[in-house]
Amino acid sequence: MKILVTGAAGFIGSHLCELLLKDEENEVRGLDNFITGSKENMRGFYKVHPRFSFAKGSVTEKEFLRPHVEWADHIYQLAAPVGVKFIMNNPVHTILDNVRGIDNVLELAHQYNKKVLVASTSEVYGKSLDFLDSTGKRSLSEEDYRIEGSTQNHRWAYANTKALDEFLSLAYYKQYGLKCVIIRFFNTVGPRQSSQYGMVIPNFVSQALKGENITVYGDGSQTRSFLHVFDAIQAITELMITEHAVGQVYNVGNPFEISIKELAERIIEKTNSSSKVRLVSYQEAYGAGFEDMQRRTPNIDKLVRTIGFKIRYDLEAILDSIIEYQKMKLGMD
Ligand code: UDP
Repeated sequence: MKILVTGAAGFIGSHLCELLLKDEENEVRGLDNFITGSKENMRGFYKVHPRFSFAKGSVTEKEFLRPHVEWADHIYQLAAPVGVKFIMNNPVHTILDNVRGIDNVLELAHQYNKKVLVASTSEVYGKSLDFLDSTGKRSLSEEDYRIEGSTQNHRWAYANTKALDEFLSLAYYKQYGLKCVIIRFFNTVGPRQSSQYGMVIPNFVSQALKGENITVYGDGSQTRSFLHVFDAIQAITELMITEHAVGQVYNVGNPFEISIKELAERIIEKTNSSSKVRLVSYQEAYGAGFEDMQRRTPNIDKLVRTIGFKIRYDLEAILDSIIEYQKMKLGMD
């Protein structure tokens, strides 16, 4: 099987390439523009592995992308702007790169008749669970309504461009029979995730290891549910080869929920850190008008039904792996 991974130098993409290369039948080609990805993430296989090839460039450029899509049997479309902070600071790129990238990937996949897995995000639910919560619903299912806020708040632009990725993929599926699988990543974490783009666990671990204040945004009562990247890539590679998954949307996440304040305390404890929690207003963190969701927890029944998905890494194992990775990066061990 010839497999194309866009966003191969990113946090999830690089782990995915490694998993795919374990199968000796696979040849893997990675694409990345290195805006948020890095060669460092690909260190174990870039220019080293005989069944891995790489091209630097952007999925937003159709003629760059064309020969790689033509070459591949399967395409994992992971290339996208990432991280709430990065997205808030790059509003135009976020919209145009998402929209142009998916337009090119789907058009070429259709032209050359290739199967595509499209990475979407739990951001597309917006604040849905905050509203559904009052009805007693505890988690988000794929068919749930999406509730997003004003166009003045750029966070929702990102959510809407990813929703457009989903609409366009499903439109190609319905109109032309393009084989596609859509997945919504919930908070996915693990080694190699950079603290540079503001994601909470790498940020807190880095702050704890350096003895800096742990910056909890808002009052810290908001919750999130974290899935280890190894579980996430296992799920998506199985979905990619499952016939029933074609034309479907799947949550990929871990239903276990923890408040951000409690998460900060767990990380301080696990790293034996002298750091203290500092509450930071959303305005200070992201600028005026920013909105966060109080809860975002996946219902993964559909994923379990389709591939028998099992979570192998609980929060303790997740934190251990990230602490170990960051200690190694900081030369602390
Ligand atoms: N957060 C925080 N401190 C940080 C980074 C993030 O309190 O240094 C909070 C953020 O406001 C959100 C949660 O942690 O409520 C998860 O943030 P992240 O950016 O990792 O992902 P999101 O779920 O917002 O996409």
